[in-house]
Amino acid sequence: MAQKLAAGNWKMNGTEASLAEIDAMIAAYPDPGCGVLICPPATLLDRLSKRVGSGPIATGAQDCHANASGAHTGDISAEMIKDAGGAYVILGHSERRTDHGETNEQVNAKAVAATGAGLVAVVCVGETLEQRDAGETLDLVGAQLAGSIPDGISGETLVVAYEPVWAIGTGRIPTIEQITEVHDFMRAKLTERFGAEVGGAVSLLYGGSVKPSNAAEIFAVENVDGALVGGASLKAADFGAIIDAL
Ligand code: 13P
Repeated sequence: MAQKLAAGNWKMNGTEASLAEIDAMIAAYPDPGCGVLICPPATLLDRLSKRVGSGPIATGAQDCHANASGAHTGDISAEMIKDAGGAYVILGHSERRTDHGETNEQVNAKAVAATGAGLVAVVCVGETLEQRDAGETLDLVGAQLAGSIPDGISGETLVVAYEPVWAIGTGRIPTIEQITEVHDFMRAKLTERFGAEVGGAVSLLYGGSVKPSNAAEIFAVENVDGALVGGASLKAADFGAIIDAL
C-alpha cells in the first residue's frame, strides 16, 4: 500500500516570519494520520527542520543538483539537503522544466543523486493545456515517467506527483475522470516497469489548485494517495483542512 501524503511546496515564498504557520501546524497535528511534508525554499530548510524536530512533519527541498559537490554556483546537492534535515526533494517540477529547461535526463540524474543520498525523490510530471488539447497527455506523462525515474527505485525512495501545468496556480482542476485516467495510467506504467509490489507502493500525488474545497473529491480517486499543494500550503488553516480531507 502506498503511503498517504500531504505535501506542501512553498515555491519561492517564505521568510523567518512564515515559520509561525508551522508552529500552528505542529500544535494542531500532533498525530496527523497521514504523511505530512513541507518543502520550503532552501533558505528555510535547516530552520524548518529544527522546528519540526523528530515529530510527524517531514521536510524537503524543491530541487537538487545531480552532483554531490563542486563548482556549481547557486545550486545545492542532495547531501546538503540531508545535512539540513530534509528527507525529500521535489524534482522536475514544471516550473523548473520551464524556467530552467530541465529535461527528463537531468531529472533522472538528480533522482539518482537524491536516492543515493538517502532522500525520497518526488518526481513531477504533467502536460500543458496544448498537449492535453492535442490528446497527448498520456503519451507525455508516460515519456516523463520513463525518462525521469531511474532504475532501482522503491516505494520508500520514490513519490510521483501528477501536476497538469494548466492547473497550477490557476484555480482550475481537471475533471475527476481526467485525474482518474492519468493516475490509473501512472500506476499501470510503474507496475509494468517495476513490478506489482513497487508499483503499488509508490505514492501518487495530484497537484494543481488543490484547496480545502476540492481536496476530498480528489482524494476519493482510487490511485490518488495525496496531494502536492502550492498556494494552499502556505497557510496552516488551509493546509490543515487538506490534511483532514486525506
Ligand atoms: P498550486 O497548488 O498553487 O496550484 O501549485 C501546485 C504546485 O505546483 C505544487 O507543486
